[in-house]
Amino acid sequence: MQEVKPPKKPMIFFYLIVIIALFCINFLLMPAIAERQVKEVDYSKFMQMMEDKKIGSVNIESNQIIFTDKSEEHIYKTGTITDPDLVNRLYDSGAKFSSEIVKQSSPISNFLFGFLVPMLIFIALGQWLSKKMLAKMGGGMDSMKFGMGKSNAKVYVKSTSGIKFSDVAGEDEAKELLSELVDYLHNPEQYREIGASMPKGALLVGPPGTGKTLLAKAVAGEANVPFFSISGSEFVEMFVGMGAAKVRDLFKQANEKAPCIVFIDEIDAIGKKRNGQISGNDEREQTLNQLLTEMDGFDGSKGVVILAATNQPDSLDPALLRPGRFDRRIPVELPDLQGRIDILKVHAKKIKVGDNVDYAAVAKAAAGASGAELANIVNEAALRAVRDHRKFVTQADMEESVEIVIAGYQKKNRVLSNKEKLVVAYHEVGHALVAAKQTESAPVHKITIIPRTSGALGYTMQVEDGEHFLMTKEELENKIATFTGGRAAEELIFHQVTTGASNDIEQATKLAKAMITRYGMNEEFGMVAMETVTNQYLGGDTSMACSLETQTEIDKKVRDLVKQEHAKAYKILEDNVGKLHELAKYLYENETITGEEFMHILNTPAQIPQFEGEE
Ligand code: ADP
Ligand code: MG
Ligand code: ZN
Repeated sequence: MQEVKPPKKPMIFFYLIVIIALFCINFLLMPAIAERQVKEVDYSKFMQMMEDKKIGSVNIESNQIIFTDKSEEHIYKTGTITDPDLVNRLYDSGAKFSSEIVKQSSPISNFLFGFLVPMLIFIALGQWLSKKMLAKMGGGMDSMKFGMGKSNAKVYVKSTSGIKFSDVAGEDEAKELLSELVDYLHNPEQYREIGASMPKGALLVGPPGTGKTLLAKAVAGEANVPFFSISGSEFVEMFVGMGAAKVRDLFKQANEKAPCIVFIDEIDAIGKKRNGQISGNDEREQTLNQLLTEMDGFDGSKGVVILAATNQPDSLDPALLRPGRFDRRIPVELPDLQGRIDILKVHAKKIKVGDNVDYAAVAKAAAGASGAELANIVNEAALRAVRDHRKFVTQADMEESVEIVIAGYQKKNRVLSNKEKLVVAYHEVGHALVAAKQTESAPVHKITIIPRTSGALGYTMQVEDGEHFLMTKEELENKIATFTGGRAAEELIFHQVTTGASNDIEQATKLAKAMITRYGMNEEFGMVAMETVTNQYLGGDTSMACSLETQTEIDKKVRDLVKQEHAKAYKILEDNVGKLHELAKYLYENETITGEEFMHILNTPAQIPQFEGEE
């Protein structure tokens, strides 16, 4: 994919102008000014020159005397002094009386060099500068209002080096839907014969970093038609009304170039719900209205397809989503295990990789990572290989970089005291042991207790739940118990609590609340939604939708549920305290424990008690 730019006049042209201007000033103007400059001298010098008969012409005015030397090259002036005999003496010295001294040197040429030429140079410079600025603003001199109302959409044409669908791994449904659009633009007759009309617009929705922009670029790379790309925020300008003008201009261009594709990235910048209040954002609403009108206005059969991307679909104005505008919604979700493997492979093509790299294992470790994070993981691995002076990336690089991307770099200078390290070890093993005892399967991929730059003192890589879309009430409860397991282990072993559990507490509370308010898992409240999710793809914020009394009750239920699960976790750890000691000791000594090692220790009957247990 290549961006097409209008041919530019080479910069050297402008430099030439500047050089010529400087040349003019130096060689024409300066001497002219210098030559014509009238030098002020004192009266005695004038007398002296007169006595030496060195004066050429002289002109006596009422308050000054202007005179030249014999060669008439230099002009001098001096003040007058009452000296009645002066004219005679001058006459004797052979000076010519002339009233033309200054005139001859100044009138036209002075005006020319002192005023007109600098003026012209300034005008030329000003013109050149303003031209340059306008070019920067995205419009040429020919555009209306000096280019301000012009959309600065970039136009791309197909090129062999562009991004293709094959560069986007996973996301097969999205690719299928988009390739249909591309196919339509290439053979519209085939569709017209049946009478099918293509959707006018398609909206890519999904969390950040899942490849929405990448997919749109791939469409540009695959399609043989012009591709206009603009970001939603670019419509909103300093000047009121310019956004709407830009939308108009964009669609005008698109109509001229049809068939073509228009891509509006981050459309939520202009597509937010209009709230109908007077205090609303006028500029944005005007822009949105213009967009709605334009989308209605153009003929779908002409072959203009609008693509847009957003990660806040529920904030978009409903009018934008109705059929006839963005009637096709293409979900671009976080990749599953196979998707992650594919994405890793796509990005690994760009770097040198050793034979031992097991993409499946890396993908498993990076559960929940987005495409952008996976791309970052591969890059971090390559950087690590360079740091270690290796020529290729190994499995160890990959695994370390998963942790770097998810939990941050290892903090080399933060040294935990032995006591703290022990607490962290018990805490992390507490989580894992509670999880393992509830499900009878490996709960973790790996646990490390090396401090990370993200602030985590220990880090647990969960195994993925597999292809798992429904969760039962029991599973959710077990999850809460697992969250509380870390704190429970600290209480059981050290009889004290630390700040290390704050994140666990937050997550346990969130989950317990969701069970009651959204999943209908409390007998008393039943299937009533008391909370709505407002921002599905960006963190999933929720807002309560119930009376204050109900909220109080919910809070109490949440408390009870978490307490109950905490007690359960404590009981599990109490019953398995031998294994808890054994596992924590292993983790404390090795700083890392893998899922297999964990299960191995858990499933081999303990031989000799290694710690003074509490049994
Ligand atoms: P967003 O969905 O936020 O627009 P991008 O399309 O900008 O995300 O993705 C950011 C980067 O992540 C891409 O440049 C690419 O390197 C990587 N990436 C994301 N998804 C994928 C994917 N499915 N296949 C390959 N690379 C991907
Ligand atoms: Mg994007
Ligand atoms: Zn914890």
